[in-house]
Formats: sequence, structure tokens, C-alpha cells
Amino acid sequence: MCKKPTLDEVEELFNFLQGQDFKSITKIDKPNLTADQAFSVIYVLQEGLGIIPDTYEKCSKCDTLFDSDSGGDNSESLIDVFIEAYGEDNNVKIPDKLWDTIRHKKGLPFEHYCEGCRDTNASILQDKVNSIIEKELSDYPKKTEGEQDDR
Ligand SMILES: [Zn+2]
Repeated sequence: MCKKPTLDEVEELFNFLQGQDFKSITKIDKPNLTADQAFSVIYVLQEGLGIIPDTYEKCSKCDTLFDSDSGGDNSESLIDVFIEAYGEDNNVKIPDKLWDTIRHKKGLPFEHYCEGCRDTNASILQDKVNSIIEKELSDYPKKTEGEQDDR
């Protein structure tokens, strides 16, 4: 068995795929991928081949790699933010149609943020949720304490 590559090593691979030298290996034809393409290669090595630990993520905001295993859960989805704002099994029943809408917008997939970008993460997603709600869902009541209108 070969050892699992460290985050630093994967970072070097990530940079190599974008046109930089990999260690002392210089006399080869270097690829010149975008950050997204480079991470697709890494993703295949993670999910397809199991060579790279799948906790290594690319930050959705600044494109740096980080280990999501250290420093807590750094991923968040629209659905999470939505649940936080509207409650899951609160007194407000969220209509199926509304869930559909949220899920389909999820092409805004799960987003992952490094430690440094973590703070802006919630507000970015919150903005997306707000704009969806403003556009399409303004007729659904927001989570409220106390009284409920059944009409
Ligand atoms: Zn970042």
C-alpha cells in the first residue's frame, strides 16, 4: 500500500495541473487547466480511485485547498440555510412545491469554504436564499413565534 498524500502534496498536484512544476519533475509536458478542471482531476482521484482523502476540498470562494476534517464542517448548502431561516418541522409547514424550488436551485451545489472565507460564507448563501425568496416565495410565511394563520 502506498501512503495517502498529504494536503501539501495534493496542493502541489493541484498547482501542477495548472501549469507549475511538480517538485523536481520539470522536463515533462505540463497541463494548463483552470482551477475547476484541476480539482476535477483531484476529485476523480478521491471519489473514483480512492487515492486522495476525500476530506480535501477546494474553497468555493478563493480556490485554495483545505482539509475539511480539521476545523469543523466547512460546507453549507442552500437547503441548510433555508432550514435555518424557516425551520424544518416548526409550526410553519413548508409546502412541497417550495422545497422543489429550493432543491432545483441547488445547482448552487454544496459549497465549501476554507477557514479564511468561512465568515463570508453564511452571508453569501443567505443572500442567495433571500433573492430566491423575494422572487418566488414571497407568499409563504416566514417562521414566526406564536400565532398561526390557517387560512
Ligand atoms: Zn477560501
